[in-house]
Amino acid sequence: MQSYSQRVRDSILPLSVGDTLPKAFEEWYFTGSTEDHEEPSETCELCGQDGLRYHFEISNRFTGRALQVGSHCILQFDVAVYDGSRRLTAKEAKKQLDRLTEQMRLDSCIKSLEALARAEHSNILDNALAYYRKNKKLTPKQAFVVFWRLRRNRIDHSPSFFNVTLRKKQHVTDLREMASDKVHFFWRALTSAQRKQAMRLGHQPPKE
Ligand SMILES: [Zn+2]
Repeated sequence: MQSYSQRVRDSILPLSVGDTLPKAFEEWYFTGSTEDHEEPSETCELCGQDGLRYHFEISNRFTGRALQVGSHCILQFDVAVYDGSRRLTAKEAKKQLDRLTEQMRLDSCIKSLEALARAEHSNILDNALAYYRKNKKLTPKQAFVVFWRLRRNRIDHSPSFFNVTLRKKQHVTDLREMASDKVHFFWRALTSAQRKQAMRLGHQPPKE
């Protein structure tokens, strides 16, 4: 069986000028290009890890070759990440890649909401889309309607990518007064702190 480091070596050395891993990795940088494959179905072209949903493109400055990899490999091998002409520190690079992942998740939520707004002509869904674009969150009332209708219309979506706001008193009141089976529609979009809050308000977690 091929070892992890052997796999990395076999992927990167033929596409690089340098003949050792440290020399080769010096030549590579993150291009800023990302892709959301919408399912965890992709493979990291560097280390072979599969089950990836997001690809990040790295390129070699001398050979011009490119690889589609997971963000883990960019961080693991300290592949250069730039902000303009400045190379980011390891900590900044991680933050930047996290930010890009977060952006892809947001885009994926917006895409589902747009499909829903097209499928049904309703004010509440149009408003939910506008509210999400502005606040990157749904109110509890919007969350129930959105998840109910997304399921009903069989629109592909990732519930855990959505965010729900409980910042205003009204949101908490709405959550308390909502029937538990409605709350269960958006349970997976709640953070663990919000789930605890929902339980204090009298809701039980969904079964299964
Ligand atoms: Zn990898």
